[in-house]
Amino acid sequence: MPKKPPKSLALLDEDMCTGCEACVAVCPVDCIDTLPGPEHNYVMQNCTIDLPRCIGCTLCAQVCPWDCITMVPSDQMLREQKYAQEFGL
Ligand code: SF4
Ligand code: SF4
Repeated sequence: MPKKPPKSLALLDEDMCTGCEACVAVCPVDCIDTLPGPEHNYVMQNCTIDLPRCIGCTLCAQVCPWDCITMVPSDQMLREQKYAQEFGL
């Protein structure tokens, strides 16, 4: 049976993310990971959020220095097929 999502989910703007890991440090369920770094230091890396594990606590959105995480109502987000698939819907 698919997991019931929390009221809101953390939506990451990957183009804005610098990979600073501030969000990784605060997530209480460890569902944010930094993707493997690029070959060159001057190219930014970014992080990724495992949405089915997100509990909607908002901490990541509060600490991101670049405001690249937005809390979005789950029902709105899960209307998009790519997110719904992650939840097995
Ligand atoms: S909202 Fe909370 S649980 Fe979800 S990714 Fe952010 S810190 Fe983790
Ligand atoms: S805190 Fe923001 S900029 Fe830093 S890794 Fe997380 S999403 Fe990216």
